[in-house]
Amino acid sequence: MTLGKLQKNKNEEISGKSKKLIIKWKSIIKGIKSNNTNNKKNKNNENQDSHTTQKTNNNNNTNDLHKMTSNSSINSNDIPIPNGLVNSNHSDIRNSIKKMLYRAFMEFLPTGFNSTNVMDKSILIENKIFDIIPERTKYINRCKAIVSNLKDPDNEEFRIDILSGKLSPEVLAKMEVTEMASKKIKNERTQMEEEAFDATRSDWNQKHALVSEGMYTCRKCKGKRTTTQEIQMRSADEPMSIFITCVDCGNQWRIS
Ligand SMILES: [Zn+2]
Repeated sequence: MTLGKLQKNKNEEISGKSKKLIIKWKSIIKGIKSNNTNNKKNKNNENQDSHTTQKTNNNNNTNDLHKMTSNSSINSNDIPIPNGLVNSNHSDIRNSIKKMLYRAFMEFLPTGFNSTNVMDKSILIENKIFDIIPERTKYINRCKAIVSNLKDPDNEEFRIDILSGKLSPEVLAKMEVTEMASKKIKNERTQMEEEAFDATRSDWNQKHALVSEGMYTCRKCKGKRTTTQEIQMRSADEPMSIFITCVDCGNQWRIS
C-alpha cells in the first residue's frame, strides 16, 4: 500500500526505487512459489518412481511390438481383431501379442483355414508360451520370433504346421527359434555355415599340415622344419603352386 503510493510520487528517485523494490519482491515471491511447486513435483516423482519406470518399460515393449508390426510390407494393423481374442484379465502386452499373432496368421492365411481357427490358435499359443516361459523378456522374444516367422511370405509350411496342429503350442514354446525359419532361409543359413566350415577346415589343414624335416631350408632362419601346401592359383590345367611355411619363424615362400 505504502509502496504503491510512493510509486506515484512525483519525486522520480523515490518512485524509481519503490518500483525496483516491488519488482524484486514479486520475483522473490514467484521464486518461492515455483520452488514449492518444483519440490512437490519432485516428491511426486520420487513416490511414483518405481511405478513410472515400470510404466515406461511397458510402453517400450509395446512400442517395440508396434514397430515390428508396422515394419511389415502389408499394413497388418488394418486387419480387424475379432471379439474374443482380447482378454480383459490379461495385461496389455499379452493382449497385443495375441493381436500380433492373429494378424500375422491372417496376413498370409493358408487355404482351408479361417479367422476362427486363427483366433483359437493365437490364444492357445500365447497362453501356453506365457505358462511355459515365466521370464518376461524371453516370453516376448519367443512370441516375436514366432510372429516374424509367420510373417515370412516364404514360410507357408510354418503357418500350416501350426494351424493344422502338427506344431503344438508346447513345441512352439520350446523349439529352436532357427527351426522356425522357412526352407529358403534354412538353406541360406546352411550354405553360410558350410562356407564358414570350409574356411576353418583350410585353416585347420594349414595348422595341422605334416611337418617335414630337411625337405626345404628357410632362407631367413636356416631352419629345416617346414610345411607345404599345394594351391591351384590360376586355371586347373596349370601346375599347382606350392607354398612352404617355416615352422620355426613363420616365413612363407612359394615355388613354381
Ligand atoms: Zn624360418
